[in-house]
Amino acid sequence: MSIINIYTNGTSVSEETKKIVVEKFEKSGFTVRKDYSPDSQLLVCIGGDGAFLQAVHTYDFPSIPIVGINTGHLGFFQEVSPDDPVELDAFIRDYQAGKYRLQRLSTVQATVTTHTGRREVLRGLNEIVIKGSPSYSVHLNISIGDSPIEKFSGDGILVATSAGSTAYNYSLGGSIVDPRIRLLQVTPIAPMNTTAYRAFTSSILLPSDLSLGVVPENGKSNYIFLLNDGIEHAYAQVREIKIEFSDTIINLLRFESYDFWDKVKTKFL
Ligand code: NAP
Repeated sequence: MSIINIYTNGTSVSEETKKIVVEKFEKSGFTVRKDYSPDSQLLVCIGGDGAFLQAVHTYDFPSIPIVGINTGHLGFFQEVSPDDPVELDAFIRDYQAGKYRLQRLSTVQATVTTHTGRREVLRGLNEIVIKGSPSYSVHLNISIGDSPIEKFSGDGILVATSAGSTAYNYSLGGSIVDPRIRLLQVTPIAPMNTTAYRAFTSSILLPSDLSLGVVPENGKSNYIFLLNDGIEHAYAQVREIKIEFSDTIINLLRFESYDFWDKVKTKFL
């Protein structure tokens, strides 16, 4: 049996689109299930990139193929436009005929250890951001592999995946990276360079086998904030944060005509 799951961001346009999509899939012989299960063959995500990220986090980074239907947002992850019902029909036809490929998106993970012994792992499809309290600069001692590299002071740092390079990373002046390249991009957020703190002012690129070590200095606030794809987590008394390339892969369904750089051009230029 061909089982499909559908996730929406709940807006009225997405819910309307969902009704049409369910009808079309069922007419084509698929079973559409309300609840996600890992044995489904496809997860359809209706909304924008935000909805796509929500679906990925809600279902704990599923390994089944995901396709995005864009309902009026930027839609970098989203592949199908619902405006034209013919395009929806073509999508289902091409999907049944196997005329698609899977774009493998790598992810990033952060392991946070506190002085109280708490240890947590966060994953991101776009990025992990480390920030201090919004009113103060944050001081971070940063190492790459085993080598201490810089004493950072500023608003924080962002570690982007290649797929996330077009998101917050790009707004901060980071580079756009083709998702086929396996790397992590470390981009500073408002770095200060003084005699006390020295940090790179541009992004730096790390190969997938090198990790980033971050040890916060005690500052005015006891709190460090970590954001994975915009989801905020507050930690007191952080001892160390290790950020590394993750083996978890998101399989994004793309039409045969998909071209990353064409998408970049359409969305940004
Ligand atoms: P949001 O702040 O409501 O929206 C962020 C915007 O980023 C939306 O327009 C979204 O597209 C777009 N976006 C998300 N992932 C993208 C990607 N990989 N490439 C290009 N654009 C992308 O937050 P959200 O919708 O929950 O998304 C969370 C993401 O927002 C975070 O992962 C972070 O990258 C981004 N963010 C950006 C800034 C900034 O640029 N100054 C600040 C905070 C967070 P849609 O319109 O299609 O949803």
